[in-house]
Amino acid sequence: MSQESAPPSPRTRVRREPHRGRYDRETLFAILDAGHLCHVAFADEQGIHCIPTACWREGEHLYVHGSNGSRMLKVAAGGAQVCVAITHLDGLVLARSAFNHSMNYRSAVIYGRFEALDHDRKAAALEAFLEQLAPGRSREARPGNAQELAATTVLRLALAEAAAKIRTGGPNDDEEDLGLPVWAGVLPLALRPLEPVVQAAPTGTPEYVRRWNTG
Ligand SMILES: Cc1cc2nc3c(=O)[nH]c(=O)nc-3n(C[C@H](O)[C@H](O)[C@H](O)COP(=O)(O)OP(=O)(O)OC[C@H]3O[C@@H](n4cnc5c(N)ncnc54)[C@H](O)[C@@H]3O)c2cc1C
Repeated sequence: MSQESAPPSPRTRVRREPHRGRYDRETLFAILDAGHLCHVAFADEQGIHCIPTACWREGEHLYVHGSNGSRMLKVAAGGAQVCVAITHLDGLVLARSAFNHSMNYRSAVIYGRFEALDHDRKAAALEAFLEQLAPGRSREARPGNAQELAATTVLRLALAEAAAKIRTGGPNDDEEDLGLPVWAGVLPLALRPLEPVVQAAPTGTPEYVRRWNTG
């Protein structure tokens, strides 16, 4: 991991706790690929909005999709500036002093402008999305028809202007607090797969379902 790599632009340089900043592709991609969810911030005449939505990465782009009627997608497809955040909360960090409580996390922030995909690239991108959710699924589910595809917007954002920030480890208490009679440490948190809930299994249980929560 190249912690030394430089931020891609002045506004992506992590200033607060700069030692937690990461600018290498490996770290960025790992954070994006571990999440199915991002928050897209954009501005319109009503103000600034920050909207959660599903996302996936392919190569050097982050993709989002949704109904053509979505305000977020319409504004973003129009070339507006956006800022996208992806966050994983890894633990609550309990220090001896109230002030030094913290959280462990991995997060990424991307700046740029989305680009709308044309009809042909849209179908391929949506197939990749399904495959990322469950490998093999795109061969099993009914493909989107012309009407469904036409009603769907797919956008992609280049990962050119992105930074990651990571906090790990225990509390950073002040020297004079280390002897206080207070529990200190980390309460870890993780998003984990649970037992699948079956609604129908007419052709048996697919591999990706069987493996879902087996670690
Ligand atoms: C789960 C979680 C909890 C947090 N809790 C707190 C809290 O309680 N108080 C607090 O002050 N901060 C908290 N942070 C850190 C917070 O995200 C900011 O990094 C911090 O507040 C500094 O903000 P800033 O605008 O001064 O950043 P600056 O350092 O000025 O940001 C400059 C640039 O660095 C990049 N950057 C900054 N923060 C992040 C980030 N988190 N991930 C990826 N890139 C980033 C962006 O490109 C940004 O434009 C938390 C982060 C996470 C993920």
